[in-house]
Amino acid sequence: MASLAKVVFDAVSAITTILFPSVCPICGSLLTEDEPICRNCRAHLDDIRLPLPHFTVDDHVFDEVFAPYRYQGVAKDIVHLYKYQGVTALNRFIAEEIAELIDGEFDFVIWVPLHKARRRERGFSQTEKLAKKLAELIGVPPLSALVRVRYTKPQVSIKTGQKRKLNVKHAFDVRKELVEAVKGKRVLLVDDVMTTGSTMDEAARPLKDLDCSVSAAVFAVAG
Ligand SMILES: [Zn+2]
Repeated sequence: MASLAKVVFDAVSAITTILFPSVCPICGSLLTEDEPICRNCRAHLDDIRLPLPHFTVDDHVFDEVFAPYRYQGVAKDIVHLYKYQGVTALNRFIAEEIAELIDGEFDFVIWVPLHKARRRERGFSQTEKLAKKLAELIGVPPLSALVRVRYTKPQVSIKTGQKRKLNVKHAFDVRKELVEAVKGKRVLLVDDVMTTGSTMDEAARPLKDLDCSVSAAVFAVAG
């Protein structure tokens, strides 16, 4: 009977594929291969690939950034679909794109957390999911080490860099029970995008205060 079950399963899969073919989440064109986005969108994404696999940063709290793309065009579409419309199929794709660049040894993958009130609103944190997938891909343990100690306005709603900086000032802290575990460790700090870098700076600050090295990892950076 197992073979009958398989025949039924295959038939149902075939019908499902005909009725609900996979489409590119960005442009809606049919996907012919088992790919998260179509070739055309992929080509446009490659156009905005950053020239360097990672770069160091002078005016920031964190030590370096790993980012595959500029935050524009298709990369922006991907982040919006992932973050605001919950297209979870993009989780693995985004994590793989970042994972390809990661260079160095890390003790923990930590993510920029949502405030618990906002997490309740959304039901889950996309960044946490992304960080955990990335952690799995690079074989580094994920750790829920940071908490948002202040409720802040969404950075996208604030126009100037200076105000964004103030909005997130001292917004994060390391969980008290994890302070000893994190002290002096090599941290890969994950967020989906980085625009002015204020949020990443503030998330990195309590980790740097504990003598950690902090490498930021994001899917896309502005500018
Ligand atoms: Zn497409």
